Amino acid sequence: MTLAGASVPIAGAGPTGALLGILLQRRGMRVCLYDSRPDPRNTPGESGRSINLALADRGIVALKRAGVYEAIRSGLVPMRGRLVHRVDGSTSMQPYGLRPDEVIYSISRHHLSQALLDVAVGRHGVSVRFEHRLEAADFDLGVAHFRDLPAQRTFEVPMSPLLAADGGGSRMRRELAAAQLIDVNELELGHAYKELCIPAGDGATYRMQRDALHVWPRGGYMLIALPNSDGSFTATLFLPKHGEPSFESLAGPDAIESFLQDNFPDACALMPDRIAEFAAHPTGFLGTVYANSWYHAGMTALVGDAAHAIVPFHGQGMNCCFEDCLELDACVERHSTWEAVFADFAQARKADTDAIAAISLENYEEMRARVVDSDFQLQQLLSRELEARHPTRFIPRYSMVMFHHEIPYRIARQRGMLQAQLLRELTAGANTLADVDFGRARREIEARLPPIERRG
Ligand SMILES: Cc1cc2nc3c(=O)[nH]c(=O)nc-3n(C[C@H](O)[C@H](O)[C@H](O)COP(=O)(O)OP(=O)(O)OC[C@H]3O[C@@H](n4cnc5c(N)ncnc54)[C@H](O)[C@@H]3O)c2cc1C
Repeated sequence: MTLAGASVPIAGAGPTGALLGILLQRRGMRVCLYDSRPDPRNTPGESGRSINLALADRGIVALKRAGVYEAIRSGLVPMRGRLVHRVDGSTSMQPYGLRPDEVIYSISRHHLSQALLDVAVGRHGVSVRFEHRLEAADFDLGVAHFRDLPAQRTFEVPMSPLLAADGGGSRMRRELAAAQLIDVNELELGHAYKELCIPAGDGATYRMQRDALHVWPRGGYMLIALPNSDGSFTATLFLPKHGEPSFESLAGPDAIESFLQDNFPDACALMPDRIAEFAAHPTGFLGTVYANSWYHAGMTALVGDAAHAIVPFHGQGMNCCFEDCLELDACVERHSTWEAVFADFAQARKADTDAIAAISLENYEEMRARVVDSDFQLQQLLSRELEARHPTRFIPRYSMVMFHHEIPYRIARQRGMLQAQLLRELTAGANTLADVDFGRARREIEARLPPIERRG
């Protein structure tokens, strides 16, 4: 038995649903994407909802395999490091990688969605139904209920299977949990986010360094900004929901203005519409979704954020979702029943998605607080030096996650913990790299860090 020729409805035509649609249609399946929103190819980009995204090696590999990379390439803006802004206006650059090609890219979410759908529909004949919302699932009868929003009509779709790529607030995940088929833990971070705009200068020029991810770390909170291809930057404020300061405590334009001016004076000078945008843009939810299972029989499986939404502090959510798509596609190649596909997919991915969820949470503290710490900076410098000297055994965790798709997230996390301990030991009492005993470093690395495991 083969799965080729199967009809595969997918709920959600976001990055996961669209990429998965391409891969499965290429295997001879008949894919239909249903999305509750209007077609992004006919609408302007949404404001206030992560307008741009960091794309890294894992996402790029998946986009190349799906034949989408060429369509988005011209819109990519490289970011080669983190540019840290202190309150006094001074800045310093912390490069991300060791080699010139170790950069991450800022991409417009809207442009990426359009490109994915163009390839899915135009090149591969995937069907799409926008403004069609998944509303419920009946696991006894094996059918999902969708609503055609413009026609105000409800209809049934057989779940034989139905894939659910309907994002972090997944309706299918809630239906599975309500039917007690899976256990779900949605852990809210207690911090939220707000997007603001740094417009381009005259002639679409950049008013800050273009090839960097800008960070204003302020301990308990931070502002970041990613460049867009039109010369503007999208800034995102991450702040606790309650307490002092918080989204709750910033009541009214005066409080907002004095908070922004006190903490981010250089950014304020570049954001003329900050107060109006603060009021108009939604405050976004941040949290992590853990589910003990992602599927039910051969009927349905959760994929992407629907299965494992994470906080955005490593810029890996979508990259991780794209890895899911490649893995699910590989499982389809290996098996002849959907139940076997789903079981293998979950088994292959769960440890990795748990690892990137944890890494992403850890990175929030690093970005908002540790980047300005002198111990952290020395450890960063030493990491780079150790990678240059021992490239098969020591690669900074950030680089393993962002630049090495062949290193699974779970390995990056395990190795990262061992390396962090070693860095602390090697820099204890040191002020500069010259104080580090590199002979000891070599001996310790050879004894404690075997060559890094990579997938074939
Ligand atoms: C502030 C922020 C910054 C981020 N930055 C990055 C980054 O830099 N790099 C990165 O890799 N990731 C980033 N992410 C994460 C990234 O946005 C997600 O991982 C990614 O969008 C998940 O894709 P998805 O297709 O699984 O879900 P979504 O993008 O949420 O798409 C789900 C789709 O399903 C549709 N849908 C929802 N409910 C239904 C329903 N009931 N019926 C039918 N359709 C439905 C929605 O309309 C949507 O089109 C960020 C996230 C946030 C919040």
